[in-house]
Amino acid sequence: MSEALTALEADVRADLARIAHPHAAWLEPKTGPDGKPALDVLIIGAGQSGLAIGFGLMRSRVSNILLLDKAEEGKEGPWLTYARMPTLRSPKDYTGPDLDIPSLTYQSWHEARFGKESWQALALILREHWAEYLLWLRRTIGLPVRNGCELQEIAPAADGLLAARVKRGDAVETLYARKIVLATGQEGMGDWMIPEQLRDLPASSVASVADDIDFESLRGKRVAVIGAGASAFDNAATALEAGAAEVHLLCRRAQIQVIQPYRWLTFRGFLRHLGDLDDAWRWRFMRKILEMREGFPQPTYDRCARHAAFTLHEGAPVEAARQTDDGVELQTPRGVVAADFVICGTGIDMNFAGRGELAKFSGNVATWADRYQPPENERNARLGRFPYLADDYAFTERVPGETPWVADIHLFAIASTMSFGPSGSSINAMTTAVPKLVHGLTRGLFRADVERHWASLCAYDVPQAVVTRPARAREQSR
Ligand SMILES: Cc1cc2nc3c(=O)[nH]c(=O)nc-3n(C[C@H](O)[C@H](O)[C@H](O)COP(=O)(O)OP(=O)(O)OC[C@H]3O[C@@H](n4cnc5c(N)ncnc54)[C@H](O)[C@@H]3O)c2cc1C
Repeated sequence: MSEALTALEADVRADLARIAHPHAAWLEPKTGPDGKPALDVLIIGAGQSGLAIGFGLMRSRVSNILLLDKAEEGKEGPWLTYARMPTLRSPKDYTGPDLDIPSLTYQSWHEARFGKESWQALALILREHWAEYLLWLRRTIGLPVRNGCELQEIAPAADGLLAARVKRGDAVETLYARKIVLATGQEGMGDWMIPEQLRDLPASSVASVADDIDFESLRGKRVAVIGAGASAFDNAATALEAGAAEVHLLCRRAQIQVIQPYRWLTFRGFLRHLGDLDDAWRWRFMRKILEMREGFPQPTYDRCARHAAFTLHEGAPVEAARQTDDGVELQTPRGVVAADFVICGTGIDMNFAGRGELAKFSGNVATWADRYQPPENERNARLGRFPYLADDYAFTERVPGETPWVADIHLFAIASTMSFGPSGSSINAMTTAVPKLVHGLTRGLFRADVERHWASLCAYDVPQAVVTRPARAREQSR
């Protein structure tokens, strides 16, 4: 490691020591049915959200925690797996997992790793560097993470605990925890959408942007990309760069969406207080934002537009699709697009039942459609399927009393967005959203222990001073 990084790590330790107040431990581990101490919080997902949540908990002296991730170390989240852009899309100065500690920001890491001039010259953060930074952050803070561990099921256990069934290799173990946070990323509550018009096509001809696509095999082929968000463009560009003969990007709208609503919402008032508004306002804001969808940055567009093989089709929703002897035919109002391979960049749809780890309670998760009926001109069935969360990001029950233990399962992912605005769906919200979740978690742990705290106060007998009385006062009191 470079001297500069070693010095930065010393700065981090010094910064954290300066703001460590209050130091006092305040939790006592409960004992699980296996006789071992149960975790206070089990975090599923060691992507940037899981790391920041773990860090926030440790700063609140909740250190009996564990993070699990099914991915191998360094391969968490999209950055080194299915992200197909050279750089992050967000501006380089958006802070996030650092939770407002200057020495832990990406900028501090970048300057220590590559020099201040390199930071000045940098336009956008390389995604490989972002992934490396996240690993550095996790090690520097000392977060307890186990990779290669997949959460398979959550069930209630004795004494108000939750039982998490976890698979690691061929072994399966049960971990007990008071609370579980699901920081499981974009697809944590559902699936990448394949439009229903395409569902009868052979699986070998269709993929989603999150699939492991062999782009080399698309050399000389015709590729259709459905959707016009940033990931759709990234996949189109990757196909073009791999030598695809034609790449057609099919945009449903009459004109492509170039506004980025996530830039508009990046201010503390919205990020912190959207969740404090009533349902009508929350729905109105988030429907507008999520229906607009995220716009793409200029370099993302340019990466496609510079290839003669690229064609953008606007006003071209796919109405029907069929497999022919010569590949796939996609019917649109603007005519037929022929392709050998189709990539869908059409976003995520909620599907709680499709996620094994939610199986014990997926049928009783309250959704927005269960709790709020918007006016006719604001309806959106897809958004109605998002979970309706409590103010501490916990699931709420569709039928009260059937699975009350879901109040200790908290969700921090794109699916939390309808309830609170960006959470797990962009870096810009992390410094505001993660502390809000952490407060919710500590509030729940404190409230559940209130009798122990009361007994502790009543038994508290630690003198803070020794009172010595002068001899005259002693005589007078006789
Ligand atoms: C292609 C792409 C590019 C993006 N670019 C940007 C950008 O430039 N700027 C920005 O602000 N945002 C961006 N985002 C949005 C957001 O910042 C990322 O999605 C980010 O990865 C979210 O972090 P996360 O920790 O919430 O989820 P993830 O990084 O996805 O991490 C979730 C983790 O949970 C693990 N997991 C899931 N289920 C289980 C299970 N059952 N058991 C154990 N582990 C499990 C996964 O292995 C994964 O590592 C981008 C998103 C995508 C998809």
